[in-house]
Amino acid sequence: MLERETKAGKMIFRVCSKCGERKLIFRFSVDKRNKRGRTKICKICQSRESLRRYYEDKDRVRIGGQIYRDSHKENRRIYNERYRETHKESLEMRAKKWYKKNKKRIKKRSLKYYEEHKETCQAIRELWREKNKEKIKKYNREYRRAKVSLK
Ligand SMILES: [Zn+2]
Repeated sequence: MLERETKAGKMIFRVCSKCGERKLIFRFSVDKRNKRGRTKICKICQSRESLRRYYEDKDRVRIGGQIYRDSHKENRRIYNERYRETHKESLEMRAKKWYKKNKKRIKKRSLKYYEEHKETCQAIRELWREKNKEKIKKYNREYRRAKVSLK
């Protein structure tokens, strides 16, 4: 044992069981439950430990929150999907109504935007067209077919 005792029988040094350093006794917290009256690990190690515990807890809380949020998100998604499904018609109707009501405004706005950003819009459109050539072809084919079958 590296612990030394004074003549009065009081230890002035103690070896920290954590960092293994021999330190003066007042570097250890008072602990009445300990038979030597001081904690086994020094104050520095103690605060380090509590910090580590704090962050571990924080991680746990964070992870727990994540799990909660994830399952919540999933529930939310299912709820939204169900809502959309059961209210499909009314939602579509509402969207149509809204569009009808705002048609002019939308057209005007997009036209205005287009006028103001003509070159950019055209460039974007060209780029998009180039990129989605096949998709557009397919879409047009399907659109024509759908139109025919609707008649
Ligand atoms: Zn220590």
